[in-house]
Amino acid sequence: MPRRQASGRAGAAATVIEVLEPATEEVLREIPRAGARETDEAVARARGAFPGWRAVEPEERSATLHALADAIESEREPLATLEARNAGKPINDARAEMEMVVDCFRYYAAAPQRMLGDTIPVAGGIDMTFREPLGIVGLITPWNFPLTIASWKVAPALAAGNTVVLKPAELTPLTALELERVARKAGLPDGVLNVVAGPGSECGQRLVEHPDVAKVAFTGSTEVGRRIAEAAAGTIKRVTLELGGKSANVVFADADLEAAARDAPAAVFGNAGQDCCARSRVLVERTVLDRFMELMEETVDAMAVGDPLSEVTAMGPLISANQRETVSAYVEDGAPVAIRGRAPTGPGFWFPPTVLCPVSNDDRAAREEIFGPVACVIPFEGEEEAVRIANDTIYGLSGSIWTRDGARALRVARALDTGALSINSNTSVRVSTPFGGFKQSGVGRELGPHALDAYTEVKNVFYSVPR
Ligand code: NAD
Repeated sequence: MPRRQASGRAGAAATVIEVLEPATEEVLREIPRAGARETDEAVARARGAFPGWRAVEPEERSATLHALADAIESEREPLATLEARNAGKPINDARAEMEMVVDCFRYYAAAPQRMLGDTIPVAGGIDMTFREPLGIVGLITPWNFPLTIASWKVAPALAAGNTVVLKPAELTPLTALELERVARKAGLPDGVLNVVAGPGSECGQRLVEHPDVAKVAFTGSTEVGRRIAEAAAGTIKRVTLELGGKSANVVFADADLEAAARDAPAAVFGNAGQDCCARSRVLVERTVLDRFMELMEETVDAMAVGDPLSEVTAMGPLISANQRETVSAYVEDGAPVAIRGRAPTGPGFWFPPTVLCPVSNDDRAAREEIFGPVACVIPFEGEEEAVRIANDTIYGLSGSIWTRDGARALRVARALDTGALSINSNTSVRVSTPFGGFKQSGVGRELGPHALDAYTEVKNVFYSVPR
């Protein structure tokens, strides 16, 4: 069986994308491949739909978004299966992601009636502010959490009265295309949500440069994010960037070591390490390093790596042959491999969960986002050194602090240059709380109440009231 990439390359280049199933390397589906022309057409549809959608009364817009949430919920299981097969993620993770998608649409369905403005005391009249939609927004998403990340953008964008062109990653476009279908079924007016599935260099770039697109919300690599920020400057577009990470999981000697070590592997190997929030730098206080590694090894050994559709699978394959090649380069001969789990052989882009120890924070594996199941364990001595190492990175997306000392937990949390932190936990994302990065992990926040700010402009109106 020849290996194929989801690229619409040679022969089929102009017309289709072959979407692969990473666990089998087989073609899962062929879909029409959009380009710049289809992107322009989608923008035109969104432009046509904007005046009508922004004028929809808040209660009705809210009801439509609730209907969309209900429609997604009713198709949750087939959507989860499709996502699990296309992204290679364990079915139970895909189910949890679909629940989050439904929750996200429900959360923002409540927003249209809550888009509050201010009244500001001024001389000579009344001053008030309004939150106006931006217009057409372009949403560009990655392949690791395809529908989940799309929902974080689509839901607040629509709730605020914008119309949308969504460009999913070419490796995993299937659930975004399903969303477009489900939205139509749920009664979303034509042209309000448009999906273009095609290459970033064509569809994505066109969205970023298109003069009718008011804003681009992007999730992906820091490298592409930088290019998008540059290109968006041409039309002074609003930009939200959710980019890469190299997050630190800081484990102090006074922590509940069993809990910290039990949780650490999933925080790196979840989604096969292809997670912007992966706690891929595990900083462990040197006095407890040996015990921590023993405990971590037990958990890694027990990890079921295999068929994404099996109920017991904890980790699936990587997304592509390219990704496996990239990840492998960090574990070449001479790498300090301390723990190595199991992975299937044969077809599929498999890579075993791997723990490197000891690693210096100056090593390449600790500095670059590997985006695969490779954890770097970095010993430290004392709180000051832990904070210094954790902050010594270009990224600042998420991270964890494990300690029983409450004052230290808060002191360290305040000292870390990181957008989404958890104490004695490795969770990063909730629909109702803000998510986003410091430093080169991005610009702006998604989710929670703050996301709506990123999809609206503040308008100030002064009304003269003569005495
Ligand atoms: P990527 O940057 O390669 O691609 C992301 C999206 O951008 C895709 O849809 C792609 O087609 C598009 N794109 C590529 N080139 C473009 C261009 N020139 N103009 C416009 N669009 C373009 O990222 P990826 O490989 O799909 O995803 C992995 C990266 O995403 C990792 O770095 C990861 O950390 C990051 N990520 C960040 C978050 C977050 O919330 N911070 C979440 C998930 C993933």
